[in-house]
Amino acid sequence: MPHHESAIVDGVTVDLRHWIGGTRISSPTTFPDYSPLDESLLGDVAAGGANEVDEAVSAARAAFPAWAALPVAERSAILRRVADGIDARVEDLSRLETRDNGSLIRSHRRGVMPRVAMNFRAFADFAEQQLGHPDLEVRDHRERITYEPAGVVAIITPWNAPLMLATWRIGPALAAGNTVVLKPPEWAPLTASLLAEISAEAGLPPGVFNVVQGLGAEAGAALTAHPDINRLAFTGSVPTAGTISKAAAENIVPLSYELGGKSPLVVLEDADLDLAVSIAVEQFDNAGQVCLKAARMLVHSSLVQEFTERVVEGAATLRQGDPRDEATDVSALISRRHFEQIDGFVERALADGARALLGGGPNEELGGLYYRPTVLVDAPPGSEVLTEEVFGPVVTIESFETEAQAVQMANDSRFGLAATLVTGDRTRAERVSAQLDAGTVWVNCFFVRDLEAPFGGNGRSGIGREGGIWSFDFYTNIKNSVFSP
Ligand code: NAD
Repeated sequence: MPHHESAIVDGVTVDLRHWIGGTRISSPTTFPDYSPLDESLLGDVAAGGANEVDEAVSAARAAFPAWAALPVAERSAILRRVADGIDARVEDLSRLETRDNGSLIRSHRRGVMPRVAMNFRAFADFAEQQLGHPDLEVRDHRERITYEPAGVVAIITPWNAPLMLATWRIGPALAAGNTVVLKPPEWAPLTASLLAEISAEAGLPPGVFNVVQGLGAEAGAALTAHPDINRLAFTGSVPTAGTISKAAAENIVPLSYELGGKSPLVVLEDADLDLAVSIAVEQFDNAGQVCLKAARMLVHSSLVQEFTERVVEGAATLRQGDPRDEATDVSALISRRHFEQIDGFVERALADGARALLGGGPNEELGGLYYRPTVLVDAPPGSEVLTEEVFGPVVTIESFETEAQAVQMANDSRFGLAATLVTGDRTRAERVSAQLDAGTVWVNCFFVRDLEAPFGGNGRSGIGREGGIWSFDFYTNIKNSVFSP
């Protein structure tokens, strides 16, 4: 079958090749990209390997000195034009992402894609404001602290929010003066290709941003093992992170990992129940394929019955269907393999003694990759569904008696990405949030994430923090020059 260089997906033309050194490049082989909506083939995408990665890293290396040498205001001006280009193409990006990974078009139009633009605009601003440090006067010496770009940054991203998670790394990496090689997820590779086009139109010099498409075990593995990368930013699963760590260790490459989660939602007895229920129902967003999802709901025994009834009621009214319809709340899972994994988790949970008060299986009416929002209770302590990340529309509810028990249950996890607490008492909010083991703790709110604040996870949820100055800490070599009097 001839390899088409581009595809038209829901009216948007997208190139299926790599973007290396400012040009489109094919590969001898391709991989199929399917849509989760109907499992149809969207296109055969270039499958990169060691050669393409090598070319991309060389292109990024060659572009690095000139990009790094640009005054920060000039780099930031170009990045703001990239942001403008994204804003101008929100509709195209939204359509592509929705068709490619099944996420809701209404979220893309109103939230995700504008935020993608912000990932460039905000870090362009932060670079101008933050990439400087007042000299230190230490005894009679003057010490000058400078943030120097690290070099070539490799970025590997997952499919659940591909463009958002890629640009959250690309923005600060470029703003700090690095060049980038991105390996998008093979389950949702398309928006990265459009971003390459937008970046070129905005005047980003060739080689500053490169995209190598391909499979994790091929393009991904080649990129992580490449001896000429200076930073490796990875968002994805814990097992992949383990594999990547070994490759990066050979070359002593600093890593930033954003991995999985099993985050708790803790509802204390003085909680506003309406708020707690609405946060709980929000967990079915993106069909539960969200790293930050509060999958384990821990509720005080005095509230648990009413909370459970209302969550089941709320989740039952969510509209499942085609994510291109603005009225849809819950869409399909990303792939057949993932669908079977989610179903396996639920079947084993039921076999372990859990009960499904809602869902508990595929959506038979819709068929395909639609899995019903599922609420499980009575899962035995320590069982798989309470401890492993289930990256789908599945939540569990447990109850506790005391605050100490709530904290103990919340922290009883190898993950530590986020925790959400609902309480009507400010003093308790301070006390309990201080005891929760998580990179982000939300109190009486959920999913608020400022680009200037640190983001990352504890334990198996990751290594390092990014956001604002913490991003620049990672993407730069911080130098101290000591001047004698
Ligand atoms: P994954 O680990 O399977 O894949 C992520 C990326 O790694 C893909 O681009 C893939 O091609 C690549 N990859 C796979 N094998 C590789 C290898 N051997 N070498 C190099 N690269 C390789 O993860 P996924 O299934 O795409 O994503 C879901 C996971 O991501 C979940 O665990 C979720 O919690 C996590 N996630 C975390 C965050 C966060 O910010 N903490 C955000 C979103 C998703």
